[in-house]
Amino acid sequence: MLTCIYNDKEMNYHDFIKDAANDKEKADKKLLLRKLSDNGELHCKGCGAEARLVDTEKKRKHFRHLKNSECTYDKFAKERKYFEDIKQKFYDEINRSIPGQSVVLDKCLEDGTWVDIAFVFDNNAIIVLNFIKRSFNETKMNAQHEKFKEIGIIDLWVIAGEPSICNDYEDMFAKDAILLQEEWQNIAIYAPENENKLTVKFKTNTQLRTYKRFHYESMPISAFSVNESGKIPYIEKIIEQKNTEIEKDNELYNEEQRKKQEELERRMLEAAEVRNKLLEKQAEIMQEETPKRELPVKSEADKVLELHQSTGMFIGSKTKGEYELIPLEEITQPKTSIPLMPFSKDKFEEKINEAFNGYAAAIKTLMLKLNQGSNEEKDLYLELMEPYRTLPKDDERYKILAHISKQSGLVNYIEKKYRDEFAPRLRSVLFRNNIEIDEDQFIRFLKKNRNWIKKDYVMGRDDHIMIAKYKNS
Ligand SMILES: [Zn+2]
Repeated sequence: MLTCIYNDKEMNYHDFIKDAANDKEKADKKLLLRKLSDNGELHCKGCGAEARLVDTEKKRKHFRHLKNSECTYDKFAKERKYFEDIKQKFYDEINRSIPGQSVVLDKCLEDGTWVDIAFVFDNNAIIVLNFIKRSFNETKMNAQHEKFKEIGIIDLWVIAGEPSICNDYEDMFAKDAILLQEEWQNIAIYAPENENKLTVKFKTNTQLRTYKRFHYESMPISAFSVNESGKIPYIEKIIEQKNTEIEKDNELYNEEQRKKQEELERRMLEAAEVRNKLLEKQAEIMQEETPKRELPVKSEADKVLELHQSTGMFIGSKTKGEYELIPLEEITQPKTSIPLMPFSKDKFEEKINEAFNGYAAAIKTLMLKLNQGSNEEKDLYLELMEPYRTLPKDDERYKILAHISKQSGLVNYIEKKYRDEFAPRLRSVLFRNNIEIDEDQFIRFLKKNRNWIKKDYVMGRDDHIMIAKYKNS
């Protein structure tokens, strides 16, 4: 036990020798204390039984019961033996000269509970401080805490030893964490061995840069004091300072983040601009390229037309950069049985134009199509031919179309169509007029008078002219 009763006063070893001015006086006081102990003048503050000074070189000076007993203080002192040194040192170091309060080592509360250190205020408010090991029993400690709460006493706890190396609430030594809970003090105090300072771990505002919510600070034991609400002014102050520091850094951090965000947005805008410019440029290039791509095709067509016009020849395939030049008469229908796709009016027009522009291939295609095409396709072509029928016979276009008709056998189709349409009607007129029909003469008549028959002849009205023309054939 660290204290004893002498002359109705609670004293610890320090109290007996504190006023010694020098080493000699100190030695005298020690001697006196020993004498008091030997004379049985020291008593247990728990039960009043005789207590003796334990004065060895190895251990800090303390007192002990002379005999084993049921004394609660004796029991408490034995249980707390481990903390004797730290407790005594703490008690020796802390500022005990604060007006309005007294600090008691080994205090018995009203309910009989012994505590390591009590801060007793003049208005009877009590703040207790207990030392615990890192391996304290959490359930037991919580029960103790609840008990203190019930009797309206604020409890502080000091862990004898170093903080765990994990510097965060979740990761730190789990038992320390209960001291950092809202309903406790939000601080964990550590008393490292053989040091005159404490390590304080406390909850701060969250540091945005690191997401840290806890901070360590070291403080001299001598700066330790508590107020009536159980707050430790020194720690309150360092928490406030730290929070101000964190808030400043958070502002700085937010500003940095804002700048970063702005920079990011600026870069994104720049990138978007670059991309847009690139797209615009691509569009420009495409636009520029479009006529460029058509140009060689056009110039190719121009070349062919020029060559055709200057030579009067038709242009065949290109070999070794030279076009094959073919006279119209030598362009013949290709000998192939592969059927072409059906031709529309547009397709016929396209091919006719190419033929007029001197392309031998177009002439060949038309020949093949008119040879193998359906009657509908042939009629479509003939309809397109109609305007060219009135061209002079030496017009190149007339020559081209005539050559195509001849080569493709279209002439035969035209002839058959003409005969099928008119021959039966003409025969019946000749028959009604009792005119004998000679086949050869009739065919000659049809051929010779084709245009008149097709365009001018009206049956009934022009029958006599028709009969005269037949007789002359
Ligand atoms: Zn006792």
